[in-house]
Formats: sequence, structure tokens, C-alpha cells
Amino acid sequence: MNLNNIRIVLHQPSHPGNIGAVARAMWTMNLSHLYLVQPKSFPDPIATKRATGAEALLEHAVVVDTLDEALAECGLVIGSSAQTRHLPWPILSPPECAQKAVQQASKQQVALVFGPERTGLSNEELQRCHYQVAIPANPAYSSLNLAMAVQVICYEVYGEFLSHHATEGVMRELASDAQLQSFYGHLDKLLDAVHFRRPSSSPDLIPKLKRIFNRAELDEDEINLLRGIFKKICNDPSI
Ligand code: SAH
Repeated sequence: MNLNNIRIVLHQPSHPGNIGAVARAMWTMNLSHLYLVQPKSFPDPIATKRATGAEALLEHAVVVDTLDEALAECGLVIGSSAQTRHLPWPILSPPECAQKAVQQASKQQVALVFGPERTGLSNEELQRCHYQVAIPANPAYSSLNLAMAVQVICYEVYGEFLSHHATEGVMRELASDAQLQSFYGHLDKLLDAVHFRRPSSSPDLIPKLKRIFNRAELDEDEINLLRGIFKKICNDPSI
């Protein structure tokens, strides 16, 4: 997974404040490549002020004259627009857009394109995108502020990135069922050895303890640690 391959492209943004707010929105979501196509005013102190903390991202923003230049090396291009078109374009929800963008970014550059504040993307501009992404909104007023639209999409992209990381990097190998069952056998012995169990004890005692240990999703190392403690408590070499 490579967020470095995902760029945000603002087509003809007219308010420098929005450019700064977009930089901040991107940086909070770990995205750092901003392309500006014919910005009305950039660099601009208003943009820098609104970036609060993401000024470095603005300094590295790439300013170009045409969408062609902003998109040239990109394999996948997704255009963001609320509007349904006369010729409907294949439409994605923000999570679907994030999934496609993050997947493709493991191979090549991906662009997420946002239109000018007043007019949005033209049909022609949208039609050079593989897909349109639309943020679900009030049908009577579906047009978000540019930076807020960027925030929503970047949030989805980062969430998608994190969910891949969760499955790739963070998964631990849990103890096998055989190891776990043998651990429960030792636990049983421990309860007897320390006279915890009484004739009046609830039959649910062992299932309740199992529930606790199951919730902990023990791995082999943790089982060995607990077993060492049990052994010490009841001084029983068979544990
Ligand atoms: N008046 C314009 C709105 C432009 S808002 C219009 O009707 O299209 C600036 C940009 O923010 C849009 O071009 C689009 O890229 C993005 N945007 C705003 N609201 C959006 C939504 N609901 N779904 C997807 N993108 C949106």
C-alpha cells in the first residue's frame, strides 16, 4: 500500500483559502501530493494561513497549466462531482473510490480530481476520468465546500489504507486450538491445586474463565507465560 502514489488535483481553484484548507485536510489524512491546475492565486498568504501546520505540503504543491500535465503519469483517474450527468458516468461511493484508489496505488500513480468552486468539473473534464465519485448529500443542496469534499474523500482513503495495514501488519499468530485446550487443562489443575473449586462452585466456572481467555486471543508466548505462573503457584511440574 502506497499513499505516496495518490495525488489530489484541484482544477482551477479560485479561493486561496480553499487551497490552504485542502492542504490541511490532506495532511491530516497522511496524503501529501497536491497538484494545482491554473490556480487563480497561488502562492498566497491566505492559503498559507489556512494550511495551519500543513505549509510544507503547500510549498511542494505542483502548479501546472493543464489537466493533461497534472494527470499524465496517472493510471487511474477519479473525478469528484455531486452532479448527475446527461450521460451518466460510472459512479462510485466514497468508500468504493477509496478502495480502488488504494488498490491501484500499489501499482502506479492515481489522481483524485476536484473541480472549481463555482462550476465544478465540466462534462468533458469528468469524461476523461475513469469514474465519478459522488459524496451522498441532501439532494436539494448537494454541493460541499471544496476543502470539505477533499476531506471526506481523503478520510475514506486513509481509512482504506489503515484497514489494509490492520490485516497485513498487525495480525498476530494466535495459539492453536490444541495449545489452548492444553492450557485449559492446566488451568483446571490449578483451580484444584489451590482449592479454588468447591462442591458448590458454579458449573459455569470453567466456561466463564474460558470466555475471559478467549477474549484475550492468546498467542503461544502468552500461554507459556501463564503456564509458568501456574506452575510456580501450585508447584506442580506436570503443569
Ligand atoms: N457548484 C459546483 C460545486 C463545486 S464545489 C457544482 O455544482 O458542481 C467544488 C468541488 O468540490 C466540486 O467540483 C467537486 O469536486 C467537490 N464536491 C463538492 N460537493 C461534492 C459532492 N457532493 N460529491 C462529490 N464531490 C463534491
